[in-house]
Amino acid sequence: MNILIVEDDAGLTELVKEKIELFGFQTASIQSAGKAIDWLKVNTPYLMILDYRLPDMNGKEFIMELQKTELVIPPFIVSTGQGDEHIAVEMMKLGARDYLVKNRYFLDKLPEVLKRITDEIENENKRKQTEEKLLESESKYRELIELAVDGILMCSHEGIIISANSYMQKLTGRTLDNLIGLHINTLFSGEVLNKEPYRFDLHLEGNIVLIERNILCSNGKIITIEMHTKMMPNGTYQSIIRDITGRKMAEDNLRKLSSAVEQSQVSIVITNKDGVIEYVNPKLLEVTGFAVDETIGQNPRIFKSGEFSGNDYKDMWNILITGKEWKGIFHNRKKNGELFWESATISPVKNEFGEITHFVAVKEDITKKKEMEINLQKALEKAEEMSRLKSNFLANMNHELRTPLNGILGFAGILKEELKDQEHIKMASVILSSGRRLSETLNLILDLSDVEAEKIDISSKKLEVVSIVKNIAGLFTEAALQKKLDYRFINKERKIFAKLDEQFFPRVIYNLIDNSVKYTDKGSIVIEIGTENQNNNSLFYVKIKDTGIGISKENIEIIWNAFRQISEGLNRGYEGTGLGLTISKRITELLHGTIEVESELGKGSEFIVKFPAILEIVEEPEPMMQKEFVSVESGTTDHPSKELPRVLYVEDDITNQNVVKLYLKNRYLIDIADDAINALKLIEQKKYDIILMDINLGRGMNGIQVTKEIRKYSSYVNTPIIAVTAYTMGSDKSEFMRAGCTNYLAKPFYKNDLLKILDEISIRK
Ligand code: ADP
Repeated sequence: MNILIVEDDAGLTELVKEKIELFGFQTASIQSAGKAIDWLKVNTPYLMILDYRLPDMNGKEFIMELQKTELVIPPFIVSTGQGDEHIAVEMMKLGARDYLVKNRYFLDKLPEVLKRITDEIENENKRKQTEEKLLESESKYRELIELAVDGILMCSHEGIIISANSYMQKLTGRTLDNLIGLHINTLFSGEVLNKEPYRFDLHLEGNIVLIERNILCSNGKIITIEMHTKMMPNGTYQSIIRDITGRKMAEDNLRKLSSAVEQSQVSIVITNKDGVIEYVNPKLLEVTGFAVDETIGQNPRIFKSGEFSGNDYKDMWNILITGKEWKGIFHNRKKNGELFWESATISPVKNEFGEITHFVAVKEDITKKKEMEINLQKALEKAEEMSRLKSNFLANMNHELRTPLNGILGFAGILKEELKDQEHIKMASVILSSGRRLSETLNLILDLSDVEAEKIDISSKKLEVVSIVKNIAGLFTEAALQKKLDYRFINKERKIFAKLDEQFFPRVIYNLIDNSVKYTDKGSIVIEIGTENQNNNSLFYVKIKDTGIGISKENIEIIWNAFRQISEGLNRGYEGTGLGLTISKRITELLHGTIEVESELGKGSEFIVKFPAILEIVEEPEPMMQKEFVSVESGTTDHPSKELPRVLYVEDDITNQNVVKLYLKNRYLIDIADDAINALKLIEQKKYDIILMDINLGRGMNGIQVTKEIRKYSSYVNTPIIAVTAYTMGSDKSEFMRAGCTNYLAKPFYKNDLLKILDEISIRK
């Protein structure tokens, strides 16, 4: 440490140096003010002893000169001459620490002054250092406060904000200027404030108080904060404010979720990843009868009934551990041993790293549903059984009814032709028409049972539908004319082709025309056939429009239901079974067609059926409208009698044998075999052109077996065999064909039906 002596008296300088060095200081000495200034530019002495009177300037000028520079003026003592005390006062004003008078005590006083001044300087330095440290720690504290991601406030004892960190601005959206000077309560959202204004005065020094409030931000948003406040020794308050809006929302959601789980009407089980139960909801306890402590810590196997196999569980775990959901049904056991059905969905719960931590099972008690299902299954089986019984019953009844009916119809027909007495003819006509009605009803009932049992074999063949519809329409000409109806057939095209079933399509048209004639007593019936294009598909339509009794809006739907008629019960005004439309609709749908009706009560009805058509250009178009019908009596052409074809009729029923004999009189040579043995005997003796084969022969082989036998004779490989049977369930027919029959004729048949088929075959031959 250096003490600078600025003194022009060299002798005195030496003496002073001596004294000072005794204190352990080093010294430097300079004789003029100018040099001293230069020296000070590069050195910083600890203390300067300045002689007031220097050769170039006095002490006052020197200090003032120094003040003009940016140099730090070191602490200094002034030495003056005797009687210059006023100078000393002046210098003290300029900053001198003390002064020494150059008298005889000068050197003696020097140590004492030096001691005092150095002590003073030491103290000053220490204070300065402390102050610097304080400043430094204060700025660090400031920085920290500014860095904080919580709002930090300082308030006066009255609650006025004195300072706030910048996060406070972010939190509230207010500027610092706006925040400072506000009362803390003005920050809080009004609603809560009114309920419970914040009371700083309730604080005790040193205690930390935690409160939760809403803050109304400057953008109108309300956030929730928690505020920790501490009263400082000086009576101010420091608060740390944290935005807990997100946490609150999460807590709220958690509360909602947990009460949903708690109150849920489905059972919920949460296990850890090892399958140990950690949570069950009240519903599970209610369903199973277990208590909470009987389930927590257990494995869900406590619910096992043992019906689910070990492999099933393995499969379930294999799915779950891949992180996928498993859905299935358990047959579980309650605490009291009772079994119950549960439908369960088990899902793995994963942490943020995608690792499975838990499994959640959500289960619903489906015991009632399951019981219903089982009952339903039983009912279904029973219904199927009933339906099978019904089909068998119908097949048997069919045979039992048709065979005698054939006799009734056959002989009634013959009687009608042979009888002379008008009364008798009438009687025979009644028997014939009643028998026909019975036969038609039978057909309808059987058709329906076939359709319902989906037993019918739909074949698809290219048909020319204009002629088919025209022929069917022709069948009703007479009935329509008798009712004096204006009965018309209109074909918009000459020919229309479509792929349809040749047995079922005509039945639909027949039913519809039959109804229109039945339900129309005056006016007209127009049957129209034509084509149209629908969404690029070619269709053909048949419209049957009548001016009959019509159908009311409320009844329009029931007409499609089986056995439903508009006039039902004892007041039934029309004959019929209520089956025609049901069958027609089902058949139409099976043939990929549509059927619709438009009708007005008392005005008439229009039934429209549509089916896909095959587009084919027919060269010469016929006139657009025709009123024309074909004869019902087709296929009755007489066969040249010179060489009559030979027919073998295999039939056990004598009535039928006689009817057929009469039918074929003068047209065919007929032999009868009443069982298989006779039939085979006859074919060995003679060569027949056609064989009529009854299928149910009562005893011995049935018709199918006989047919197979006949086919073994080389001379009978190609002989036409017509299956004649009352078994007309749809699937039977294909069976006959497979056995070797070439044609098929259903009982009861009329003379024309039989002749038509025989004539066709013999012409072909
Ligand atoms: P039904 O054997 O009674 O004719 P359907 O199933 O063919 O049985 O018809 C059911 C009912 O629909 C009929 O009873 C009749 O009430 C009504 N219906 C059918 N066609 C017509 C029509 N062209 N005009 C008025 N009503 C009809």
